[in-house]
Amino acid sequence: MILYTVTGGPGNEGFLDIAESGDLTGKNIYVNMTNRCPCSCVFCLRQTKAQMEKNTLWLKEGEPSVKTLLDTFAKYDLNIINELVFCGFGEPLERFDEVCQVIDALRKEYPNLKVRINTVGLANLIHGRDVTPELEGRVDTISISLNAPTAEEFLELTRSRFGIESFEAVKEFAVLSKKYVPNVVMSVVEKVMPEDKIELCRLICEELGVTLRVRAYEDYEKEKR
Ligand code: SF4
Repeated sequence: MILYTVTGGPGNEGFLDIAESGDLTGKNIYVNMTNRCPCSCVFCLRQTKAQMEKNTLWLKEGEPSVKTLLDTFAKYDLNIINELVFCGFGEPLERFDEVCQVIDALRKEYPNLKVRINTVGLANLIHGRDVTPELEGRVDTISISLNAPTAEEFLELTRSRFGIESFEAVKEFAVLSKKYVPNVVMSVVEKVMPEDKIELCRLICEELGVTLRVRAYEDYEKEKR
């Protein structure tokens, strides 16, 4: 499933293919670009091959090409949707260039399309360069998982392949993104994180000059990031 909407309420959330999502007016459309991720978060459903493969967001046919994505989008009117969200069952910015190509093509047709990327914030380490200038004019909101208030806890939770430097890299990515993206948000999930740690994350975000979004656990279950 490469394009989908989120259905259901707390406790019975589901992902519905865009083709089965009915009237798209006011809905968020999610783009599932990849199942790759530099992390292996302890709370992520991508823990075992079996868990991954039974999830409806597992890309059985492999990663969709830009053409496949655009051909699929061509069947729908994106003027009526609320927001296009690059999210899915992996880290969308693993495919940074393709994400940009898709946005560029869609913006030609829909100049007012609202675009959000939900990310773990490690794109600069993944690609070995500062990619944030390329977000300018493409992305309205970037939502970065803060996950933890310290580098050690971040690594323990995310098991990032980039090791202990990951936490600083995520914070730096947020600060750099502010120059190019109007709305930079860092997120933590209530219940997953105790209140005292959420408070520490709030202080970190204040220092970085970004908004902290404390997400309801139900929302986290829906979007997984
Ligand atoms: S929760 Fe997100 S960042 Fe963590 S392993 Fe899963 S997809 Fe990757």
